[in-house]
Amino acid sequence: MNSVKIQSERVKSIQSSSSLTISAIAKEMVARGEPVIDLSIGEPDFNTPAHIVEAAYQAMLAGQTRYTAPAGTEALRQAVADKFRRENDLAYSAQQISIGNGAKQLLFNAFAATLEQGDEVIIPAPYWVSYADIVRLNGGVPVVINCPEQQGFKLTPQQLQAAFTERTRWVMFNSPCNPTGMIYTREEFAALGEVLLRHPDVLILSDEIYEHIALGNTPFVSFVQACPALKERTMVLNGVSKAYAMTGWRLGYAAGPQELIMALNKLQSQSTGCPSAISQAAALAALQGPQDFVREATAEYRARGELVVRALQSISGLTLAVPDGAFYAFPNCAAYLGKRTPQGQLISTDTELVRYLLEEGKVATVPGSAFGIDGYIRLSFATSRANLEVALGRIRDTLASLSQ
Ligand code: PMP
Repeated sequence: MNSVKIQSERVKSIQSSSSLTISAIAKEMVARGEPVIDLSIGEPDFNTPAHIVEAAYQAMLAGQTRYTAPAGTEALRQAVADKFRRENDLAYSAQQISIGNGAKQLLFNAFAATLEQGDEVIIPAPYWVSYADIVRLNGGVPVVINCPEQQGFKLTPQQLQAAFTERTRWVMFNSPCNPTGMIYTREEFAALGEVLLRHPDVLILSDEIYEHIALGNTPFVSFVQACPALKERTMVLNGVSKAYAMTGWRLGYAAGPQELIMALNKLQSQSTGCPSAISQAAALAALQGPQDFVREATAEYRARGELVVRALQSISGLTLAVPDGAFYAFPNCAAYLGKRTPQGQLISTDTELVRYLLEEGKVATVPGSAFGIDGYIRLSFATSRANLEVALGRIRDTLASLSQ
């Protein structure tokens, strides 16, 4: 058979999303009858609130089943602008909002619309698995800056200053952070903003998708609230996936300077055309309707977070930076690397440990190396407390079976 070249070099240069891959393996194991508990996926376990589903249904019956403007409907963009004013005290017009098929697609649009081949994007690590590959797919070069646990997994102004080159195009922030759960304070953002003021050609992307899930005493603050002088070159990324348990609806939004938003919209007009009209009607109801769900879900994540933190702190050898937000715990598992299984197999990396936890402990997690830092595992607590109790017991027992 002729060997036809299928994959472009760009696609060869990226990996499948590792959390989705691990989750797929976990689902296969469940299908084979294995009692796996999946803590690998960053997805609320709640159903979308009924009033949102109902609004989507009514919209369909009313004929809102056609293409919309590439940027999204006027009504939804206005509702997003209202959300920014109401919740973040930020003024955007509807023309400064772009609606996408999930925040993920808006990231793709932002980089596709702005990067030239070889342009650099500064990404503090640990970072969400997709950032670096979305940059690569669009011809950019991810410049990963290691932010170890000793500095709270946060970028320092000195590190930021040292990372700039002639090719720097974007700097990315993600607070609350996936995978570490850390939240930048207003002062920390302001100090980073001071550095950015000295680099007027650089754009800033602030991924705020976990905005509503603050677990402790550190309040969420939008990057633009902390650094108003940078509003004109910052894209704020957010969406309804996490706040309203709407991952499958694929609906996200971005706010930013009009020229950037227009570039995103132009690109969208030639790619997906527009986000789903039905999902847009649902998102409108989510943003304009009662917000009880958001409060109740956050209270539940807080209770689960406390359970998970307590359990992890009681496992000898694991250390944990207590998460401020999102629904992840990111314990350090370095003490277990270099140990052996009862069968004599050496566990030398976090990936091998995650595999062992899945095969022996029947718990799916994601290795830190997938987020650009070795020696950690990420556990999602977007699952019931009963599941979490069982899963953490299994993790404790499986780790205890390892020896020097
Ligand atoms: N940003 C971060 C940090 C995320 O964790 C996720 C989802 N895992 C997204 C963006 C994308 O969300 P969506 O595409 O569902 O809006």
